Amino acid sequence: MYTGIGASAGIGIGSVVLVTEPSLEFKTTTVTDGEAEKSRFQNALEKTIAKTQAMADDMRERVGEKEAEILEGHMLLLMDPEMTGQIESCIGDALMNAEAAVEQTCNTFRDLFASLEDEMFQQRATDVNDIKTRLIKTLLNVEEVDLGNLPENTILVAEDLTPSMTASINAENVAGILTEIGGKTSHSAILARAREIPAVLSIPDITKKVENGMSVVLDGDTGEVFLEPEEAVVEEYKEKRRIFLEEKAALQKFVGKATVTADGHQVELCANIGKPEDAKKVVECDGEGVGLFRTEFLFMDRPNVPTEEEQFEAYKSVAQTLEGKPVIIRTLDVGGDKEIPYLNLPKEENPFLGYRAVRLCLNRDDIYRPQLRALLRASAYGDIRIMVPMITCLDEIREVKAILDELKADLDEKGIPYNNDIKVGIMVETPASALMADAFAKEADFFSIGTNDLTGYTMCADRGNPDVAYLYSSYNPAVLRAIERVIKCGKEGGAIVGMCGEAAADPLLAPLLLAFGMDEFSVSATSILTTRKVISLWTMDEAKEVAEKAMSLVTEAEVKEYLESVAKK
Ligand code: PEP
Ligand code: MG
Repeated sequence: MYTGIGASAGIGIGSVVLVTEPSLEFKTTTVTDGEAEKSRFQNALEKTIAKTQAMADDMRERVGEKEAEILEGHMLLLMDPEMTGQIESCIGDALMNAEAAVEQTCNTFRDLFASLEDEMFQQRATDVNDIKTRLIKTLLNVEEVDLGNLPENTILVAEDLTPSMTASINAENVAGILTEIGGKTSHSAILARAREIPAVLSIPDITKKVENGMSVVLDGDTGEVFLEPEEAVVEEYKEKRRIFLEEKAALQKFVGKATVTADGHQVELCANIGKPEDAKKVVECDGEGVGLFRTEFLFMDRPNVPTEEEQFEAYKSVAQTLEGKPVIIRTLDVGGDKEIPYLNLPKEENPFLGYRAVRLCLNRDDIYRPQLRALLRASAYGDIRIMVPMITCLDEIREVKAILDELKADLDEKGIPYNNDIKVGIMVETPASALMADAFAKEADFFSIGTNDLTGYTMCADRGNPDVAYLYSSYNPAVLRAIERVIKCGKEGGAIVGMCGEAAADPLLAPLLLAFGMDEFSVSATSILTTRKVISLWTMDEAKEVAEKAMSLVTEAEVKEYLESVAKK
């Protein structure tokens, strides 16, 4: 048995599909029969066109028209006689092998497009690169795993899972995910939970320990993984899966109910989302709003910054889907573990302590102003609230508010509608903002405690590093004291206080957060009903008693052990 980090609950039983990046190495050679080589190229071209068409159709059905159009653009390029003609000339005239001819020609076209200023040509350069890779893969007969078309009961095994990989998976057929890197709060984990796929991450060398077709049992809660398990283990875990699914079904009785403690104290229960499409899931899972929309996902997996118009449409659609319920949208939080290659950010010694989130945004008017303007415009369509990440000092939030005032004046002048009373809040996820919470409460309409980062920064432990994972725990008294202080200062200063870090969904911490007076919990859509149930099990008096005792303890182990001993099911 292997043990990794249980990152998305549920039991997975199935067979391995290994996803590894194939090598695309080839030699440039001289061919003797140019005509035969041309027909090998034609063959590969036809196959690539057919595959691209199928991908476009599938994308249209599962994601949307806009995404499908990108692939249709690829088809046009593949059918462009100028480019294919040049590839054939390289083969026919220079007797180059097809792989080399494709590479040389595509690189020439790519460099030509890339040298032109226009955004559309820059996009073309990326498209040409993409089709070059696909053509060479076809020529080399490199099989790509089609993540949208996996066999039933697949256990997907990869070194890491990128957000786009997780997004393209057809969840019905994926019984589980295993990776070599990542932790509970890494984005692959967050996405796996959103798609309700059991996942165990951070199992060293797992891609080398399995092969395609191998049978696997995994427990996304405990992090246990069995390769080629004995029949008795399979039976035991089938039973565990049955109980897990039964408990999940029983949660349906909390649909349509307010989120209240056993003695009637009501709190707000919202959900975290990464893409506009996720908003539907929030409504389906009975969320009372969106507590965190991580807008960086709109900026990822594409070649350039989304325009103000694209962002406006995305924010507006979430506001409309939520029909007047609160929607907290976080401005771009890039840097640290969230990379956006086209921003070409400098490599840093300590990216988590570096040029990221609001620090970058306040230096990049070209990126930040369109986002803020789009948010203001979309605020005319619902209860949008703006949240600024990675705040460490008051000047930052003041500067953001000053930009918002300028943008509002411009919208007024042009007669463009927006909500003039739009709430502006901050993520409290750095020790600096936690220590200054009293002062921030006077400047911010609301706080949302980001325990994923707050835990890391308070304990000086990277959230993705397995060697310091023992320190990365929100049960540490230092983290709990920070949380208690932030809630107390926020409330005293008149700010609404919520939490959107993963700790908000931790059943062991629920009595503490209630006792501290937290107003809003924001969890993944799939954790909404469990969180509502957990909250319903406590009275405020009981919660306060537990909090008092827990806050008198001085080590992480003591806190955890105590909270486990009083947990309610
Ligand atoms: C957090 O830090 O707790 C948070 C919610 O933000 P992210 O996980 O996106 O850094
Ligand atoms: Mg954060």
